[in-house]
Amino acid sequence: MTDPPAVAVVGGGPAGLMAAEALARRGINVTVHELHRSMARKLLLAGRSGLNLTKAEPIDELLDRYEPSAPALERAVRDHGPDWLRSWADDLGAATFVGSSRRVFPEAMRAAPLLRAWLRRLDGLGVRFRPGHRWCGWTDDGALRFEVAGADAARLIDVEADATVLALGGASWPRVGSDGSWRAILEARGVAVEPLTAANCGVVVSWSDVFIERFEGEPVKNVVVSVADETHRGEIVVTRRGLEGGPIYAASRAVRHEIGRTGHCRIRLDLAPDLPIDRLRDRLASPRPKETRTSRLRRARVPPVAIGLLREATGNRLPGDATDLAKLAKAAPVEVEALMSIDRAISTAGGVSFAALDEHFMLCDLPGVFVAGEMLDWDAPTGGYLLQACFATGAAAATGAEVWLGG
Ligand SMILES: Cc1cc2nc3c(=O)[nH]c(=O)nc-3n(C[C@H](O)[C@H](O)[C@H](O)COP(=O)(O)OP(=O)(O)OC[C@H]3O[C@@H](n4cnc5c(N)ncnc54)[C@H](O)[C@@H]3O)c2cc1C
Repeated sequence: MTDPPAVAVVGGGPAGLMAAEALARRGINVTVHELHRSMARKLLLAGRSGLNLTKAEPIDELLDRYEPSAPALERAVRDHGPDWLRSWADDLGAATFVGSSRRVFPEAMRAAPLLRAWLRRLDGLGVRFRPGHRWCGWTDDGALRFEVAGADAARLIDVEADATVLALGGASWPRVGSDGSWRAILEARGVAVEPLTAANCGVVVSWSDVFIERFEGEPVKNVVVSVADETHRGEIVVTRRGLEGGPIYAASRAVRHEIGRTGHCRIRLDLAPDLPIDRLRDRLASPRPKETRTSRLRRARVPPVAIGLLREATGNRLPGDATDLAKLAKAAPVEVEALMSIDRAISTAGGVSFAALDEHFMLCDLPGVFVAGEMLDWDAPTGGYLLQACFATGAAAATGAEVWLGG
């Protein structure tokens, strides 16, 4: 072992950088190897629509969101929970605030200022960065092997380390992060990896041409999406291929289970969630016998895109009876064909099985190799839970590495 010990962190996303910071603070020599030319590109992408760092809710409630993987994450998340994360961001000069539904954001909303300050801090702690290094596995004598793009051809370099933290991310948005190719490398070493699938993603719906021509890109502002026994409220967006938006992402786990179980999934949309059904029915009952169904719906303040969804749900045969029309608007069926592809999903379900790890996130069959972040087999809704677990497991894997190194 070198003195001080040397740890290779592979993957320069939130989990890897958090592991690097924790290790460097303990006097350990850390080098971060990253596939792309710059660090944390997915974090920057996440910040484009408001960087939701964590959720300011009681820790037991927060942990529930990681079920069934909550027990495996519990210690890391309790030790590095929302308060810890907020004060960490504060120390970086990226003070946070609690927004609607207790979501926590940096005041700047974006990730770039936080990341800049973080990289400066890591630099000050002596962390070295090796961008443009694609990890491709281990050599026969246990060194880490990287492919480094050169002007003419790629070259291979081998790196010895006393311990390694793998924080390679999931398989969504490969343009800014991982393509999940680490899975084959680990499986070849006997590590159990659950299949990587899209999580927090849109759903594929086969719309009619008429509907999509008129409503592609239209938001539906206030909807309750129901699937199985779950409901999720918020804004959804009609896309050429289906539906996107917060409530759809939140429902996507249940949709995946339903498709896995039965081969298809019907979700229901309550397009007038603030109106009880009898009040909606009263509004839809027309005093004028010739009034069209569409103008009755408009009079009841159902927006055009929602009326379009009702037409899609009925093959353009809206019921004439006010009670039936109200029932439809409160539970419009949408047949989901599939989840959107993993390339555009917010996150990835599946990953390195917790059964392959000890309580410090070390691979039981590869002593000295720790795993953190989204490449672990947990799944959670959006709302800050994803980054929360990435930061927490990055810090926890660093503690594990320190313990293993005899610190
Ligand atoms: C559009 C979008 C918005 C999001 N918004 C939020 C949000 O607001 N709140 C939230 O909690 N979560 C959000 N997320 C999810 C969050 O960004 C991820 O969960 C988080 O970035 C995962 O962190 P990680 O460190 O585990 O992996 P990553 O961030 O994916 O980092 C892994 C790193 O490893 C590198 N890497 C991969 N393979 C190799 C290799 N072979 N060799 C070397 N390096 C490699 C990658 O290039 C990458 O930089 C969002 C995601 C997306 C796509």
